[in-house]
Amino acid sequence: MDFSLNKEQEMLQKEWQRFCKKELNKDYVQWMDENVDFPPEELWQKFVKIGFFRGSIPEQYGGDRMSMVDSMVVYEQICKASTSVALAVGTTTGFGSRFIAEMGSEAMKNEYLPQLAAGDLKMCMALTEPGGGTDILGAITTIADEKEDHWLINGEKIFITGAHVADYMITICRTETDTKPSNSLSVFLVPSDCEGISISRIPKVSCHHCDSVGIAFSDVKIPKENLLGSRGNGWYEMLTVLNPERIGVAMMGVGIMAAAYEDAFAYVQQRQAFGGPIGRFQILQHYLADIYINLENARNLTYKAAWLCDNNQPYHLEATMAKLVAAEGALHAGTHGAEIFGGYGICNEYPMQRYLRDALQLQFSPISNEMSRNMLMQFQGLPKSWS
Ligand SMILES: Cc1cc2nc3c(=O)[nH]c(=O)nc-3n(C[C@H](O)[C@H](O)[C@H](O)COP(=O)(O)OP(=O)(O)OC[C@H]3O[C@@H](n4cnc5c(N)ncnc54)[C@H](O)[C@@H]3O)c2cc1C
Repeated sequence: MDFSLNKEQEMLQKEWQRFCKKELNKDYVQWMDENVDFPPEELWQKFVKIGFFRGSIPEQYGGDRMSMVDSMVVYEQICKASTSVALAVGTTTGFGSRFIAEMGSEAMKNEYLPQLAAGDLKMCMALTEPGGGTDILGAITTIADEKEDHWLINGEKIFITGAHVADYMITICRTETDTKPSNSLSVFLVPSDCEGISISRIPKVSCHHCDSVGIAFSDVKIPKENLLGSRGNGWYEMLTVLNPERIGVAMMGVGIMAAAYEDAFAYVQQRQAFGGPIGRFQILQHYLADIYINLENARNLTYKAAWLCDNNQPYHLEATMAKLVAAEGALHAGTHGAEIFGGYGICNEYPMQRYLRDALQLQFSPISNEMSRNMLMQFQGLPKSWS
């Protein structure tokens, strides 16, 4: 068993540490959090320049696809610097590139993958609806009707990350009405400049520099060939594409914990009370010890899930556990980190309040912690408890 990074991975880690230190420094991230609803184009172009978007695209389409472990080495640094930026760039690579690469026709791959590799396109994934995100099969009411020469889409989506800036929306619709729900969904590539699409903002406390918005589709016409994968089989095809998403979200929790630990560890050595640094108080050391343990656990689980994925072994269980442990660890780190900072823990002057706010989002997106626990016990063979 070998837990160490190889030479190339160490170089990759250093390269991204340097990149994040320079391009995602704390002042700039705070500025973004207070002023923008998506990272500025100037920053996006820096990710293009360093080759980030090529990492999710197979070589024959202009990319240099990385293994899951390598991409997590990169993602860890981005997640530590800003959950919002990780979401913003990860939505295009994790949804856009993956859906097209795994489910697209050859013509679609030739058309879109080189553009995605060059960072010329932004994409989002529109699955969740106002009726509920956990019982997704029961809640989807967005319909795609097959007409003679096009599909006609009507319905509503909610909480769709990056849809307000996306060029294309990977949209999951019901296409069949006379069969069981799991055989009724299909996936479509919807150009966001189609007539009939409107976007509504959802003000929220977390991830301020990467908005998640509502979308209404009203008689939206898209070409026949924009069906991704096979009609009616979208649920099963989509799950395979989405499985790695949990590994990426787990890494967001790891990033938050790492940042909160680093900041709090430095703070307890500077801040004085009762004639010395607060770091000498046992209870604050215990807070830090728990954050450190949670961080190590979540990081190990996340890399294990990524390693299993790279080695073609089942990783669903580990990815679900990693997401759960990382989400809860991040919330704990934000809460106790804020306590260590005292009043400054809730002041915008320090990023601790951002870690805490961003950690909230991970508790239920893309899958809630409750549902994760349901599934874990189902995987272990207990009766299905959740429907
Ligand atoms: C900021 C943000 C970004 C998002 N980005 C995207 C995106 O890009 N694309 C997209 O498609 N979706 C996105 N989502 C949606 C996200 O996946 C859903 O919010 C999530 O699936 C939960 O659905 P819900 O919010 O409707 O909660 P609900 O499904 O209404 O759940 C409410 C509560 O009930 C619990 N619950 C439900 N069923 C059970 C059960 N059987 N057993 C136990 N507990 C249960 C849940 O755990 C939760 O605590 C995003 C959400 C947020 C908040």
